[in-house]
Amino acid sequence: MAEEKKQEGLLNKEISRKDFLRTAGVVGGGVAVSVAAVTVSRLSPPPEVPTGKETIRDIPDFKTVEINEKSDVLLRMQAELKKALAKPVEERRWMMVIDTRKCVGCHACTVACIAENKLPPGVVYRPVVQEEFGEYPNTQLRFFPRPCMQCEEPSCVAVCPVNATWKRPDGITQIDYDKCIGCRYCISACPYGARTSDFGEYYTEDTPELQPYELLSSNEYGKSWNREGHNSPMGNARKCHFCLHRLNEGELPMCVSTCIGRANYFGDANDPDSLVSEKARQPNQVKLLEEKGTKPSVIYLV
Ligand code: SF4
Ligand code: SF4
Repeated sequence: MAEEKKQEGLLNKEISRKDFLRTAGVVGGGVAVSVAAVTVSRLSPPPEVPTGKETIRDIPDFKTVEINEKSDVLLRMQAELKKALAKPVEERRWMMVIDTRKCVGCHACTVACIAENKLPPGVVYRPVVQEEFGEYPNTQLRFFPRPCMQCEEPSCVAVCPVNATWKRPDGITQIDYDKCIGCRYCISACPYGARTSDFGEYYTEDTPELQPYELLSSNEYGKSWNREGHNSPMGNARKCHFCLHRLNEGELPMCVSTCIGRANYFGDANDPDSLVSEKARQPNQVKLLEEKGTKPSVIYLV
């Protein structure tokens, strides 16, 4: 009975928040209402992200595996990740290369990302976009997984009225869910559609009870975000963060580990010997919407 009441309360709270957010999106004045509600503490500048020796991560070797040219690329990238983490954060620059010729459009990465980051309905960090090219009858399909590009010049950062999003020294664009007011300026500003709103929905809404997996905390930006109650990141803008919580533990982003086609390369762009740097130097590389001047850190091989 107590559990039923908790579930009911949760749903009611989330529906009212969700309704507010939806109304804010539909009615033009919604953004103004949100911005007017900004408190002084939310207007503080972005935090000084720690740099230097204290950010060096010493990841232990769990087993010794010989890596050679026949090894799974994941093993090489894992070893290179450990090498990058042995440097201070400002000396690493994370980059992803996606080989569209290897991507089979299975969406395993999309689903793995949703499970890893406990994403609710409507929030997707890594959709896979399908493109048809060629001329009939000689047409082909190509797939573009589309995470946040972790742009060097991110248009999402400049528009945030409360400094809730900024660039980290390692190139990842971070969001502070505690500061974000859900005004969605950044969502409109991102040319890649990489950000989505968390409306506080549940997959099993309108059923007798929420499922336990829907209340699991997500681990993003160094904190554990509890979905019970009225808490962030409900109501916030959300996006891919290259699985920062996994990187800090010496693990590759979930989409990279899960890809059945080994279509993803990830690592430190500041290391010229890394596999990802090698791939980024290939002549068949393209960046999406380069003309926007955002300088994306995600590169495609076509
Ligand atoms: S892809 Fe969009 S959300 Fe990501 S850093 Fe670039 S502008 Fe910001
Ligand atoms: S898991 Fe790999 S092959 Fe499947 S859609 Fe994602 S990138 Fe493409």
